[in-house]
Amino acid sequence: MKVSVMTGIRQVVEEERTIPSIGNKEVLIQVMDCGICGSDIYYYEYGRIGDFVVEKPMVLGHECAGRIVAAGKEVKNLAVGDLVAVEPGYTCGTCEFCKKGLYNLCPDVVFLATPPYDGAFAEYLKYPADMVFKLPEGMDTVEGALIEPFCVGLHAVNQSGGMLGDSAVILGAGCIGLCTMLALQSKGIREIYVVDMIQKRLDMAKALGATEVLNAGKEDSIAKIMEFTNGKGIQLVFETAGARTTTQQTAKLVKRGGTVVLVGMAANPVFEYDFGMLQSKEAKLHTVFRYRNLYPVAIDAVLRGHLPLKQIVTDAYDFADIPKALEDSIEKKADMVKAVIHVSD
Ligand SMILES: [Zn+2]
Ligand SMILES: [Zn+2]
Repeated sequence: MKVSVMTGIRQVVEEERTIPSIGNKEVLIQVMDCGICGSDIYYYEYGRIGDFVVEKPMVLGHECAGRIVAAGKEVKNLAVGDLVAVEPGYTCGTCEFCKKGLYNLCPDVVFLATPPYDGAFAEYLKYPADMVFKLPEGMDTVEGALIEPFCVGLHAVNQSGGMLGDSAVILGAGCIGLCTMLALQSKGIREIYVVDMIQKRLDMAKALGATEVLNAGKEDSIAKIMEFTNGKGIQLVFETAGARTTTQQTAKLVKRGGTVVLVGMAANPVFEYDFGMLQSKEAKLHTVFRYRNLYPVAIDAVLRGHLPLKQIVTDAYDFADIPKALEDSIEKKADMVKAVIHVSD
């Protein structure tokens, strides 16, 4: 099978590998679509994210969906021919976090395309069947691949405790920001402000139903939002850019008694944050690390809610063009929102 391997910073090559054999509880998936995530781009460009360092050749890609081509003897939930989405983290199942159901906090997780583990930019992937979810009739593998970032948005909204009637602001209109918006909408939250510096992303946010979009490179977005809310601020503040400035802004934007949710992972520590301001408003601060127990919920929400998840995809590439896709993601950032690799038919 063909596999795309990152061999160094800004270097990926196509390699031939043997198709993996599966165990009794595993399935073999023919990968059809795989999204390019911010983390893939970051590993490709810098070779590391915080403590995770790419030290040997690694396969990128963790947002994947495809078709079951073989199933182990003990697999009951899936059959050959099923279209599926893959939850890319496989956890130990025995630590205190796994036992509590907080498995996204498992210290022994094997997460696709997170060093030292290979990802899904490959024609075939073997995976434990209990973390593979059948896509219902009417859902294709591009949507299936996008279930992963949508779960991040959904988990963020769950952490916020957001309810009908709440106002929300999303700092950062990349894929995760837009997924957070769709997740808010699916809970009936409609007053949503979106801030970014890239106009194309803001246009997309507006098209997907944002109340107001603000270009922080051109206007004072904080002053504007305060104006829109008569100086009160926002009930639910989501930081999805993982940037220092936007993280700091959350304390200013949040309403008295409101909630800040940090979704974006800052690559470097944010040392200065106005906790006093947060405290004087008795605001809550939540953080988000990936997601848990959400794949079936997310699939159902997208299908039944007719969420326009696929509209986020602005660029599609064939498997052979993965090097170009990754380069474009760096060089043409302002023109792209989300790229997906079409691995096979
Ligand atoms: Zn992702
Ligand atoms: Zn565990």
